[in-house]
Amino acid sequence: MANLSLKHIYKIYDDEVKAVNDFCMDIKDKEFIVFVGPSGCGKSTTLRMIAGLEEITAGELRIDDVIVNDLEPKDRNIAMVFQNYALYPHMSVYENMAFALKTAKVPKNIIEEKVKEAAEILGITQYLERKPKALSGGQRQRVALGRAIVRNPKVFLLDEPLSNLDAKLRAAMRAEISKLHEKLQTTFIYVTHDQVEAMTMGTRIVVMKDGFVQQIDTPKNLFKYPVNIFVAGFIGTPQMNFFDAKITKKDSLVRFELECGANISEEYAEIDKIPIGYMDGQIPVVVGIRPDDVKLDDVAYNEQEWGKADARVTLVESLGGETLIYADMNVKNTSDKHGIVVVKAGADSEIKKDDIIKVAIKKSNLYFFDKETQLNIKPRIPKENILDCVIKNGRLYFGKQELKLPPVFENLKSGECKIAVPPEAVVLGEGRAKAKISSAEVIEDKVLYRLEILNNDENFNGAPLFALELGKQCFDEGEKIVFDIDFSKVSIKEQNIEPIEKTNVLKCTFVKKRGDKKKYKFYFDIENQLLKADEAICEKLFASKGTQIFDIPLEMVFMPDSIEAEKYVSDGLDSIAGKVTDVFDYGMKCFAKVRVGSSDIIIMHKCEIGEKLSIRFNEKGFNVKDKTKDIIIV
Ligand code: ADP
Repeated sequence: MANLSLKHIYKIYDDEVKAVNDFCMDIKDKEFIVFVGPSGCGKSTTLRMIAGLEEITAGELRIDDVIVNDLEPKDRNIAMVFQNYALYPHMSVYENMAFALKTAKVPKNIIEEKVKEAAEILGITQYLERKPKALSGGQRQRVALGRAIVRNPKVFLLDEPLSNLDAKLRAAMRAEISKLHEKLQTTFIYVTHDQVEAMTMGTRIVVMKDGFVQQIDTPKNLFKYPVNIFVAGFIGTPQMNFFDAKITKKDSLVRFELECGANISEEYAEIDKIPIGYMDGQIPVVVGIRPDDVKLDDVAYNEQEWGKADARVTLVESLGGETLIYADMNVKNTSDKHGIVVVKAGADSEIKKDDIIKVAIKKSNLYFFDKETQLNIKPRIPKENILDCVIKNGRLYFGKQELKLPPVFENLKSGECKIAVPPEAVVLGEGRAKAKISSAEVIEDKVLYRLEILNNDENFNGAPLFALELGKQCFDEGEKIVFDIDFSKVSIKEQNIEPIEKTNVLKCTFVKKRGDKKKYKFYFDIENQLLKADEAICEKLFASKGTQIFDIPLEMVFMPDSIEAEKYVSDGLDSIAGKVTDVFDYGMKCFAKVRVGSSDIIIMHKCEIGEKLSIRFNEKGFNVKDKTKDIIIV
């Protein structure tokens, strides 16, 4: 039983191959975590770093809150099961399973008890006297698992343990490993390139690509809410079909115009999580359709829920129990783009190549991506609301609603503009902007409200306003609220306004100075200002770079609200001095631009221009980046 925490974990091989980049994850006790992704994406490397078989280049790995970066594999209380079983050929099954305990000098009677118990769990009691060569692949894999079980580890690591088995045995062993996890009530981490294994076994899955984590989520959420085209295409069999498309909106009706010639129409209210900016047909999008959401059309499928299209059959695959039909929606050759859908039909289907079929496509299960960024544009929590507004006399008007602009925006140009407001920037207010809760959706531990802005005039685009949590209060559908906007989080393209909260960066180096009794003390040198580095941070810096840490350019990286500032006290070593060069009063919050050496940083603090400040960093409020390799080391 164990919790694991992986913080900013990197692996760089031979000083250049970045096999794993900034892997961050907390794993709870008893979870079954699966790392999945194509070959070479960094899954095994991550697993081997957890096992201690591979050195961690940078980052912090904790098991049950103890940093284990430098612990030997045998001291981590972890058991690893490999793809090639790695059994000793000259030993019997019993001896193989007993080996680790024997080396650890565990008394004989306890070894016997543990081996017999594990053999019982795995159903291999009758083979205990056999040698591995007299066992089948599945039985050998069981012995390998048994060898891990007897050690009673806190964490089980399994690296593609089933890939040497044939398909049928793999399916059976998959179920057995899941059962084993249930029985042992221990944390499992399992590596595979097979998404079916991942989906059927994991409580949570980490999808990786090119050394980067793409998404960490439950199987259901990965399937329903993939963050990008890669995850959408990787998860699910047969694979999701993708179609280049554009989206247009006329009144309350939205059309998805696929380049292959097919069109699907949908009520705007059904897909209003897609930002309205995508609906003028200008931004290329990709529409994703899962084969399970395409049916052979018959009268059973109503127009309201199903889009319809003609398609020419290009391939028929009989799988015995069912038939897969590949059909191209570019029937009339109106486009040079093919639009292949895969449709599942019954075993006795008589459809053949070149037939023209009618397909029905489930509208509510369509997926939408930005073609350029590849990101899902209809995520569970929309990234931002786009409001069509007018700015006039220090006020913001949208529909017939209005909000007072904060002092920082007093000088904005009057006129029409689009303002991008993230859902977390919609807050309860006291002014004159009113809205009605039209729906509430619980997403993990948060509530996403869909608000209908009241008194819209005819020019208002009718887009809903999404708000993530509204203070501590809960609201019901139909309730009316007065809201405000946290303007520090908004962007207004036309006026070059961006959210003020951005990651701050200060150039620095790490230095040592002789202190009392000739003992060294360690500091960050931030452009000639010294800031004491506390012991825990020094330890981490030395752990990742050794004494080389004194020779490399570093960066301190932090958010505006993670540091403290006060009126300048003195040139202490626990703070650095900075001069306020600008202030930004957002009403609800105040920020200041502060000059430190040759850099400007933004902090959340109420002060005046020209004021001198002492700035303090708390241990958890910042990261340290190695500039030479562009990796976070603390
Ligand atoms: P996966 O398990 O996802 O197939 P790996 O973790 O084995 O991927 O490898 C990730 C990347 O690191 C690959 O590009 C691989 O070539 C590289 N790599 C793995 N081991 C080494 C090594 N010992 N030396 C150099 N590069 C390596």
